[in-house]
Amino acid sequence: MVRAILFDIDGTLIRTGGAGMAAFARTADVAFGKPGGTRDLVFHGRTDTSLVREFLTLHGFGVEEDAIRRFLETYLFLLDDQLSMHHGERCPGVAEFLSALERLPEPPLIGLLTGNVRLGAEMKLRAHGLWDRFAVGGFGDDDEERDRIAGIAKRRAEQRLGRALSGDEVVVVGDTPRDIQCARAIGARSLAVATGGVAAGELASHRPDWLVADLREFPVSVWDPRQ
Ligand SMILES: [Mg+2]
Repeated sequence: MVRAILFDIDGTLIRTGGAGMAAFARTADVAFGKPGGTRDLVFHGRTDTSLVREFLTLHGFGVEEDAIRRFLETYLFLLDDQLSMHHGERCPGVAEFLSALERLPEPPLIGLLTGNVRLGAEMKLRAHGLWDRFAVGGFGDDDEERDRIAGIAKRRAEQRLGRALSGDEVVVVGDTPRDIQCARAIGARSLAVATGGVAAGELASHRPDWLVADLREFPVSVWDPRQ
């Protein structure tokens, strides 16, 4: 029986219309003097900290805690602006999906599993009225590696529920192969959604437990313990 569901953010719950990438690009320019310096980074499924590390390495800056912190502080400051300037949206069916989960007779814990740093996650989800729907989370400032963030998110879910969870009691929902991989890393099941730009065929080749074009297609009743 599914007891905890952990959601990725970008491309899974919301699309920021490029606000996140724009804030990264502005930071490279204003804080590090590297306009266009994030152009070659691949953002899909990545953690914020690993992106900053790649940026610093790429441009010959020392990868020190100070530089990472300075990047992320500037990024968060600029993200607020960028979110209001870009037209983002919730991915199709997200609000209805969350409501359907909450209406199950024994609703699972709903949490986050994201490469966004916590404050960035909060800003993005608040911009779309979703932040308050999530009880726990693992974030990009908990660890640089998504697989380990998954372990942290699962542990926090266990603390909240007051007991250990077996793998098949946890589902990770995400839009990239990295989400499927990090579900596997903690023994959880995965629901892949093709709402973030990775094609369904590409997601299928990573063998998620479930795969849908968007969340409107997924019948939450399969997680109803009475079924
Ligand atoms: Mg994503």
